[in-house]
Amino acid sequence: MSRFSRRGFIRTGLGMAAASWLLPVKNGSAGSRSGGGENAFCAVASGNGSRATEKAMNLMRRGSDPLDAVIAGVNIVEEDPDDASVGYGGVPNEEGVVELDASVMYGPTHAAGAVASLRNIKTPSRVAKLVMERTGHALLVGEGALRFAKAHGFKEEDLLTEKARAIWLKWKETLSDRDFWLSPDEKTIMAELRPYAEHYGTINCLAKNSDGVLAGVTTTSGYAFKLPGRVGDSPIIGAGLYVDNAVGAAGSTGYGEANIRTCGSFLVVQFMSQGRSPEEACLKAMQVVAEKASLLPGLLDAEGRPRFGHSFYALNKKGDFGSASMWSGHTFAVHDGTENKRLESAYLYKRK
Ligand code: ASP
Repeated sequence: MSRFSRRGFIRTGLGMAAASWLLPVKNGSAGSRSGGGENAFCAVASGNGSRATEKAMNLMRRGSDPLDAVIAGVNIVEEDPDDASVGYGGVPNEEGVVELDASVMYGPTHAAGAVASLRNIKTPSRVAKLVMERTGHALLVGEGALRFAKAHGFKEEDLLTEKARAIWLKWKETLSDRDFWLSPDEKTIMAELRPYAEHYGTINCLAKNSDGVLAGVTTTSGYAFKLPGRVGDSPIIGAGLYVDNAVGAAGSTGYGEANIRTCGSFLVVQFMSQGRSPEEACLKAMQVVAEKASLLPGLLDAEGRPRFGHSFYALNKKGDFGSASMWSGHTFAVHDGTENKRLESAYLYKRK
């Protein structure tokens, strides 16, 4: 039985998508994305967020504020032990500890709050909202964020489910052929672990009500097996989330480091402020992410295209919405006031 090294393993994970694509059909567009207009409710989320958009819409219709509505929406996924990428049940860091990142932003006040590397609390999005409302700060991390949550009555809980622990243990056992961790059959391990090594999962949810109030939230357990203390784009205002009540809201999922370096969600909102539709703005920001990534050869495949996935989601003041991904095959969730549906995201590059 052959073993594989940690480096080889990670490279394989990142390169998986690269192996399966064909060619650059640039700027694939998913068509028109019009909502019910300025006076309509709308909720948009990443592809894993259909339950969130449904919940957010129901709450807004009953008079809830859009920020409370999107947070209640993502809480469903944060509290779901079967979702291995967000909140409780998330795949842990390299030491087997679940560390969560989340941010919220509220249009009318342009206020924001975030937590990063938060341990033992199932719903980091709620803590992020308290950072916004009950502190003079915008971001709390690690131990300080945990103490703050406990001061507000949050209960510490073990977030590592049996499923996530088993995934982590298999990864640990396959790190190296020069340690004392012994792995079972390699092929099985590779098949089971690949999705987690690529990690993809974060939920972003954006909403607007009939008074034009915009709000957003992004929450995640971050990359599977990340270094302890690693903070992704989700809790960084301007990267994983940005809301400008005069223009629109945007959020992201995917390769956080590339997005932090380009202030992606801020860019999407800037592009919308210049008159672009949400989908066009997402595509344009994705082009910037791809262009900047091309300066780091390690991030490119043999054909010079990004080896990573990334997605943006956007909603403007008029209730139009859109999404774009680096690669084809991604979806996003939207409740446009009439129907809760999943739509295809536009994309820069087409997979085979
Ligand atoms: N953006 C998240 C991060 O970098 C990961 C993801 O969306 O899958 O932590």
